[in-house]
Amino acid sequence: MKEFKIAVIPGDGIGVEVTEQALKVLEKVCKKYDTKLNFTELKAGGCAIDDCGNPLPVETLEKCKKSDAVFLGAVGGPKWDDLPGKQRPEQALLGLRGGLGLYANLRPTKVFDELKSASPLKDSIIDKGVDILVVRELTGGIYFGEKGRKEVDGIYAAYDTELYTVDEIKRIAHCGFKAAMKRRKKLTSVDKANILESSRLWREVVEEVAKEYPEVEVNHLYVDNASMQLVRNPSQFDIILTSNMFGDILSDEASMISGSIGMLASASLREDNFGMYEPVHGSAPDIAGMNLANPLAQILSAAMMLEYSLGMSEAARDIENAVDVVLKEGYRTGDIYSEGAKKIGTKEMGELILSNI
Ligand code: NAD
Repeated sequence: MKEFKIAVIPGDGIGVEVTEQALKVLEKVCKKYDTKLNFTELKAGGCAIDDCGNPLPVETLEKCKKSDAVFLGAVGGPKWDDLPGKQRPEQALLGLRGGLGLYANLRPTKVFDELKSASPLKDSIIDKGVDILVVRELTGGIYFGEKGRKEVDGIYAAYDTELYTVDEIKRIAHCGFKAAMKRRKKLTSVDKANILESSRLWREVVEEVAKEYPEVEVNHLYVDNASMQLVRNPSQFDIILTSNMFGDILSDEASMISGSIGMLASASLREDNFGMYEPVHGSAPDIAGMNLANPLAQILSAAMMLEYSLGMSEAARDIENAVDVVLKEGYRTGDIYSEGAKKIGTKEMGELILSNI
């Protein structure tokens, strides 16, 4: 029997509720493949501030480092909103990403047939199918480059610097191409190479790395064009590979296409396949503790963990298929409910996914 160590951080608000459902699903699907997941529950975010005054206790980060993957719910809430920046719950996320060296952020956007009506795009666009994975560089570029304030010709000014090394571009490009090999083998690299020197280097390095993946079809788009294409014809995309800032913006744009934040999973990875998996949504204090949260984003994050960190693609497909079946049967949590569907709560959705594994 195979065994893996999983650091589980339910966090705050609905993070706790959706994680509970996802862990049950993980246990069941792993049993089918003769695999045992050893969960260690850890604190981070608001609950850790209450507990020890630190959003990311040293023990949490250390135990995460010793695990095979990290599975996180969501952190934050109004109780901690007035704390100064460095003491806020969200600091835990930055501390985990930085402390674990997670440089690649993967965010899938899929429009499920049954949830087409939730998309803000027209049926004629959505009908062609939308299944995109945005691969975003997470620890470099303008968010981490030199920044400051200075006087320019006697006028007060501020600046931020976009800087990418060849190695940083190479490793995220490999991540994008490897993901493409597991999917439809099409990769669109997004940059602003008509203006930015850093983008010109980005494009050169992506072209070099592409030679190692001859089966993957590659094209390049300027970021302004990519943002238009995402709403004009999203079905043209499989992998979108891009820098930190462009990825930040494009992944949010892509995720809106699905129309429901309760369905969106994400992964943050490094080259040894270690990763942290979490839903895109936050702790949703407005519905926390009411059995109203949609657990599917967290359950689909569990599928990503099986796929990318634990090498269990078949188990990941089992979870995704179970989600498909339950949606086809008409079951919906409130956030994705439409007339004629069967409205259910967090726990019931978790149970239904379990029964379809
Ligand atoms: P949010 O994602 O928590 O909620 C936005 C809206 O979407 C709310 O109306 C909420 O009820 C709804 N929603 C979110 N997830 C849902 C789900 N699974 N099912 C049904 N409805 C869902 O964003 P927010 O309100 O801006 O932030 C709330 C708190 O979460 C803040 O403290 C914020 O800092 C934190 N946050 C944390 C993360 C994270 O942990 N990764 C991400 C975003 C926000």
